[in-house]
Amino acid sequence: MTNQVIQLNAKQLSEVATYYDTHKIIRSAPGVVFAAKLTDTSITGYKSGKVLFQGAGAEREANRWSSDLLKPKVSAAKGDTLPLGFSQTSVIGSDETGTGDFFGPMTVAACFVSSDQIELIQELGVKDSKMLTDPLMRKIAPDLKEVLTYSILTLGNEKYNKVQSKGWSQGKIKALLHNQALKHVLNKMRPQKPDYILIDQFAERGIYYNHIKMEKEIIRENILFSTKAEQLHVAVAAASILARVAFLEEMDRLSLNAGVTLPKGAGSKVDEVAAKIILSKGEDYLSTITKKHFANTGKALAIVNKKRNN
Ligand code: MG
Repeated sequence: MTNQVIQLNAKQLSEVATYYDTHKIIRSAPGVVFAAKLTDTSITGYKSGKVLFQGAGAEREANRWSSDLLKPKVSAAKGDTLPLGFSQTSVIGSDETGTGDFFGPMTVAACFVSSDQIELIQELGVKDSKMLTDPLMRKIAPDLKEVLTYSILTLGNEKYNKVQSKGWSQGKIKALLHNQALKHVLNKMRPQKPDYILIDQFAERGIYYNHIKMEKEIIRENILFSTKAEQLHVAVAAASILARVAFLEEMDRLSLNAGVTLPKGAGSKVDEVAAKIILSKGEDYLSTITKKHFANTGKALAIVNKKRNN
């Protein structure tokens, strides 16, 4: 018989007890606060916060809780309260990247992970993408594309600069791309539907929907928003990898074209490389590979002027 033990705080313990309420049994052993019996698992909760799972389904039941409740970081997430057992449901996740990088595109990805794919996706190496390195993500992404229904949108710099100069905020651009990526995935997987959609929250619900209110088709059904969403469901972690790899691939292409490895981010290294590009290829060319409105444009021009005056 398999045994699994998890440690919970008082609030979590009572949530777990409520969840198994319909299978409750009486067990009057010392320290026991609740007990339940499923067909293949016995569950015993103790005053200490420990919950013991015994039987063939012990691991499955224990996992139901470990990923949702036990990571302290999860409680720091802002946004919707997720349903119990959320991490084991069938979810479309979406996330974006490239928003803070002067060079390169903004990318958004959405993908569907059904409950029976969760284990496989985890085995492919998907965890919180903030813990994954770029080379590792490049390795995992093709496998994810092979098994998942997904949509990846890459907003190139020229298009980005065009809509940005029309007055669109980054928030609006992101919201439009998320809505579009979700729409694509829902269309591709039809008639199947996800239990939920989880967006890695960059704006609160009201602001998000305000941004996309002019769109013809607005995805609203079963949408949840949360920060740190990549820790809450593997579908968001997978989406985050797909978005990141699309960004990296476009950076490769742009670097090749520019004849220099383009740095990520928006720091002083970025200013220097941008200045070199202005000197070799001109300011107009620079704007075709950057998010022009960033302060880096001005900083690079200042470096160029200084050089020219010396
Ligand atoms: Mg995000």
